[in-house]
This record gives sequence, structure tokens and C-alpha cells, in this order.
Amino acid sequence: MKISKVVSNIPASPTLSITAKVQELRSQGKDVIGFGAGEPDFDTPENIKISAIEAIKEGKTKYTPVGGSPKLKDAVCANIYTDYGLRVTPENVIVSCGAKHSLYNLFLTLFESGDEVLCPSPYWVSYPPMIEIAGATPVIVDTRQTGMKLTAEGVKATITKRTRGIIINSPSNPTGMVIERSELEKIAELCLMHDIIIISDDIYMKILFGDAQFFSIATISPEVAARTFIINGSSKTYAMTGWRIGYCIGDRDVIKAMTRLQSQSTSNPTSFAQEGAIVSLSADQSVVEDRRIIFEKRKDLIVSKILEIPGLDIIPPDGSFYTFPSIKGHLDRFGGANSLAEYLLEKALVAVVPGEGFGAEDHIRLSFATSEKNIIEGLDRIKQVLA
Ligand code: PMP
Ligand code: GLU
Repeated sequence: MKISKVVSNIPASPTLSITAKVQELRSQGKDVIGFGAGEPDFDTPENIKISAIEAIKEGKTKYTPVGGSPKLKDAVCANIYTDYGLRVTPENVIVSCGAKHSLYNLFLTLFESGDEVLCPSPYWVSYPPMIEIAGATPVIVDTRQTGMKLTAEGVKATITKRTRGIIINSPSNPTGMVIERSELEKIAELCLMHDIIIISDDIYMKILFGDAQFFSIATISPEVAARTFIINGSSKTYAMTGWRIGYCIGDRDVIKAMTRLQSQSTSNPTSFAQEGAIVSLSADQSVVEDRRIIFEKRKDLIVSKILEIPGLDIIPPDGSFYTFPSIKGHLDRFGGANSLAEYLLEKALVAVVPGEGFGAEDHIRLSFATSEKNIIEGLDRIKQVLA
């Protein structure tokens, strides 16, 4: 049957495809080491699981309000105050089926044909396709020459009369880079000057290393806050990727329109998953810090192992659970990251995500949401087959 043009043009998410491929190879008995994971390898904390089980037992298995239960919205508002110092009300919040779904609703609600949305590259794989589904045009701002960090100068050079939005993702997937406050202030100034809406995807804000500090562009001034949409969710902070709870915080009229869109597509996110999310936000947060410490240790290990491999280079990540090494020393041989990744999977049984899907064919992404043992063994295998 004929597939619509819009859907024909969407590539499958390469991050999810790699994970599926690893699972398939493992089911065939192959000893694959996977660095593809875009999710914490930790289990969802027990108290969160129990709360969802209790919710099912108590019969919280019916529709909730489309944009999320009042209790969860209250918990999100309380967290926005704690984490950002911003006072928001439930009218500023929509809960969706994952942060990805919130982003999708937001792009469809804000953008249309003729609009340009600035997308710093390397970018998370799903931003450009989602912008295109909305009919708008992603305009890539390449940060590879500026240490993988978006600069106001780079933004300024790509603004046109059609620019309507900009995505800020700090810490970034895939680079792990955090953008400094001073640069965000300059970028915010440009957004105010050119009437540009800011989408601040803060999903990795709690996974930071060393001296890196999270600073939200939304907190610069009330004027900037008024044009910023904060995206966050349960997936990364609380190891709840399968629960599908994410949210967007911003202008109440836009949130209302997003809720209308959601009412005609998915309706509410799963009722008992919302109950788990309430507990995740309201309970003691020490598990988040405990896991951050583990991630930091693994980050140090994987960075040192990557630097041992001739032809690879890396700027150590400030946060997230990704490394995004350059493969420049191997480009002559492989042409691009896709064929290097294929080679690694075939010869070393090691899965990495090639950089093409992130807008950087000269890089690969290795997630360190995996054990130290896997990191050591996997990087040793890569070193061996590249030698
Ligand atoms: N934004 C970024 C930058 C991500 O890496 C992810 C990971 N999938 C998401 C949003 C969406 O997360 P989820 O839909 O699981 O909440
Ligand atoms: N965001 C994660 C990743 O980049 C999960 C998969 C996805 O949704 O893309 O791997």
C-alpha cells in the first residue's frame, strides 16, 4: 500500500534500532557488548515500582485527565520550583507518554511549513525528524568547530526572518556537553531580539560530572522564561524509560493547545505510571545522586579507554551517560561512522551508534549505561580490531 510522503521520509530512530539489533544478536547466542543503550542500566527504584503496583490494586486503572493527573502536575510544579526557582502552576504543565511525546506535541503545536527551527548539531536523533513531521525546517547549527558547544555566534549566523525556534539540550545527547551560563545569556538575548521560542530539553540535568553546573536558560529573566518550554521526564533520572512519562512546562495557552492535540491522539499517559512518577518526584532523591556517582566513575573509565585507542579522540562529557568520540583517524579507511560501526559489530561484536543520525558522520556514540566490566572488555575489543 502507498505510504504517505511524511512517513516515507522519516528514518527509523537509529538509537532504538541499535538496541533492537543487539537484542536480536544476543537471542542468537552471540556475545555482543552493547554501547547503544540510551537508557540507564539500573532498575527502577523499588519504592516507585511498589507505588505503581499499589495504584493498580487500588483501581487507578482508568483514564486520567488528558494532560496528566492533578497530583502529578502539582509534583512537577514543586520540582520546577526546587530545581529552577520558577513558580509555575498546573496550567503550565502537560504530562505526555515520554519526553519524546511532549516534544512531538510541542513541535506540532508551535511550528508549521515555512518555519525554521535551529537545531545545534550533534543533535539527538529525533529532533530533525519531529520538526519535519510538523512541516517545518530544521536548520543545523554545527558545533564541531566550537568544542561541541553551541555559541551565540553560531546562532546569530543561522538566524533568518523565518527562524521561530531553537533547541537547547544541555547536558547534550550525544555529546554530554553543558553550555555555560554566559553563553546561554547571549543566546537568550538573541532569542528576545528575534522573537525566537526556546525549547530547553533538560532531560539529563541531574547527571553531571566534575565541576559542571546545570544552568537553565529559563531562569535568566521572566521575559526569557515566558518564551521557554522546559522538557523533562522520568526516563533518565529515575531509570523509568519503559514507563513513558515525560512533561513540558511553559506558556499556558500553548500547553492548552498541546493538551487538545493529545486529547485527539493518545489521551492521558498511563494512569499507574503517573502514580510511579509522583513518587519518583516526591520521595527522597538520594538514589539519583548514588547513581550519578556510578556514572561518573564509568565516565572516567570509558574516556581513558577511548584515549588508549589510536585514531579516536574525545572531549570528556560534562554530563549525561554518553561519550561521542571522533573517529577522524579512521575516516580514510571507513569513509564514515556507519561503516565503522558495522565493522565493529561484525568483527568485535561491539555495538555503537554511528554519528550520521546525530549529524556527525565523523563520530560514534558510546553509552556508558553499562557495567565497568563491559566497558573494559568492549573497548579492548575495539582497540584490537582497529589496530
Ligand atoms: N530528549 C533527549 C535528549 C533524549 O536523549 C531522550 C531519550 N530518549 C528524550 C528526550 C526522550 O526521552 P523519553 O521519551 O524516554 O522521556
Ligand atoms: N534517547 C535515547 C537515545 O538517544 C533513547 C532512544 C531514543 O528514544 O532515541 O538512545
